[in-house]
Amino acid sequence: MQNVNRKIILNSRPVGAPTENNFRLEKTAIPVPEKGQVLLRTLYLSLDPYMRGRMSDAPSYAPPVEVGAEMVGGTVSRVEKSLHPDYQNGDLVLSFNGWQDYALSDGSDLGKIDPRIPKPSLALGVLGMPGFTAYVGLLDIGQPKAGETVVVAAASGAVGSLVGQIAKIKGCTVIGVAGGEKKCRFATEELGFDACIDHYAADFDKQLALACPKGIDVYFESVGGKVFDAVLPLLNTAARIPVCGLIAHYNDTALPEGPDRLGLLARTLLTKRIKMQGFIIFDYYNHRYDEFFSQMSDWVKEGKIKFREDLVDGLENAPQAFIGLLQGKNFGKLVIRVAND
Ligand code: NDP
Repeated sequence: MQNVNRKIILNSRPVGAPTENNFRLEKTAIPVPEKGQVLLRTLYLSLDPYMRGRMSDAPSYAPPVEVGAEMVGGTVSRVEKSLHPDYQNGDLVLSFNGWQDYALSDGSDLGKIDPRIPKPSLALGVLGMPGFTAYVGLLDIGQPKAGETVVVAAASGAVGSLVGQIAKIKGCTVIGVAGGEKKCRFATEELGFDACIDHYAADFDKQLALACPKGIDVYFESVGGKVFDAVLPLLNTAARIPVCGLIAHYNDTALPEGPDRLGLLARTLLTKRIKMQGFIIFDYYNHRYDEFFSQMSDWVKEGKIKFREDLVDGLENAPQAFIGLLQGKNFGKLVIRVAND
């Protein structure tokens, strides 16, 4: 056990893309648990695009991180010292420690890591929040039917890689969109997508149209920007668009330039009777989590779902890794290994 608690603090709010100066590392004493509390040691920290929203004080569905406070984030932790009747030293838990080595909890925000999980970090990925997001977003909102064409953005990432594979299990034709040849090859050769288009290609929109000769029935939106522009004219009547994220816009400081396309969007939605629905995964935990966990665990065990982790060692590297996530530098679910499990 090291003798300090390192924390990554929000040093200032970013304007546009975050930089290393928006973060600082602080060392404080390791907190001491009182009766009814546990001391948690962070083993794995999940880095997720939503954290860009928490760095900003613009109104959102969750409160911002205050400047001077540690960054928030989901973690897998080990109970280092328990003064709580439900936890023993050594228990592995899903927690929300944020970007730091140690944290206290009264147990109310903890979940024991299911022993069926093949390795603990997966509780932050395929068998955790991103997996649940893919499952609910695609099945409940996207409602894919066998034979339909599903297009998925950020196709090699934590959520997108799973959306495409679930759509394949459901009998759909799956077209991914990803940044660069390596990620696209991973989507087709490893994950079994029917095609994957590189959004950096100059003729990206033409390539996407060629890959979708029957149009698009479900577009799983995680990006926005030019990817959505290319998808819009290809949408079929009665298409569904789960709006999961808009990562191309998270660093925007103003509305995008160019002609106002709201009229075009609204007319397409109206005349083609398209359903476009945003969702935040928190709303689904009570009633959908158990089914997800059991089904996804089976698919992973049977080899029907593959996953890729991008593990980065060291809490001190979290800012750089997070900055890279917003630039497409991660390849798979981005997780910081803070300590060995
Ligand atoms: P990923 O692992 O997919 O990593 C993010 C990826 O986004 C990058 O690797 C990059 O992939 C792509 N990307 C980044 N910037 C751009 C850009 N300007 N244009 C196109 N692609 C870009 O992250 P997650 O799977 O964790 O998250 C995917 C999306 O899902 C995000 O929008 C996130 O906010 C959202 N989300 C929403 C949830 C909800 O409750 N609604 C819950 C969880 C996630 P590439 O190199 O291929 O471009």
